[in-house]
Amino acid sequence: MTSKSLPTCEALLEKAACQIASDTSRLDAELLLAHITGLSRSGFRAFPEREVEAQLATEFEALVAKRIQGVPIAYLLGQQEFWSLPFKVSKSTLIPRPDTECLVEQALELPLPENAQVVDLGTGTGAIALALASERPEWQVSACDLMEDAVTLAKENASQLKLPVEIFHSRWFAGLPAGRFDLIVSNPPYIASGDHHLGEGDVRFEPATALVSGADGLDDIRLIVSEAPEWLKAEGWLLIEHGFDQASAVQELLSTRGFAKVESRKDYGGNDRMTLG
Ligand code: GLN
Repeated sequence: MTSKSLPTCEALLEKAACQIASDTSRLDAELLLAHITGLSRSGFRAFPEREVEAQLATEFEALVAKRIQGVPIAYLLGQQEFWSLPFKVSKSTLIPRPDTECLVEQALELPLPENAQVVDLGTGTGAIALALASERPEWQVSACDLMEDAVTLAKENASQLKLPVEIFHSRWFAGLPAGRFDLIVSNPPYIASGDHHLGEGDVRFEPATALVSGADGLDDIRLIVSEAPEWLKAEGWLLIEHGFDQASAVQELLSTRGFAKVESRKDYGGNDRMTLG
């Protein structure tokens, strides 16, 4: 094969951007080509005529084919940014969402002791726990997940980010070492089993265990709320992410379980997305 027959970056990007049915098709194509070639996105702009080796072009086209089927870009790259930190992601974990950064912001605003003991239940990639640990080095942050693959991944992310977060294999509180926390934070599964969103977009490719929680989506939140008081210090806080329409139900669960100062907070889209007490 002569070098003349090699495709250029621009030709590959243009073709892929036309094929990918997403609002961000050009960006997706650039991210995938950057991932495969090791070149930067600005490099494509500076040298659009740069040729791509046949083998790499084939690998790129294979990723584009998956993207066309709807596989989330984060799974294809194996990475997602959260709280400006790079997280490895895999099919065993939810892809960290920008709205969950609001949960981190809220946790950082709570009146907590300097050396707070914190646990993130159902940590997945470790996103919430590691974001908190990066902001508050003096906190003792731990995390747990039911899925062994997620525990392994969260540990990898902790060591890659050099953050001292202990990760346990545990279904909610069941496998945690005895102790009391100043803050329990969680983004549990909260989608109702029949919800039509489960058939749309990225969530089609994400693990159901991280998304679905019984007929009304509240099974896991009910369990967490009912057990949390036994794991909290007297002035401790519980902070939970939930669906946009679940705030009053979650407030009710917390109040009934004896929590005080129960309030909900909004996500970036203006929806009541988390409740604390
Ligand atoms: N917010 C996610 C979504 O609907 C769901 C996250 C979750 O169930 N914890 O895309």
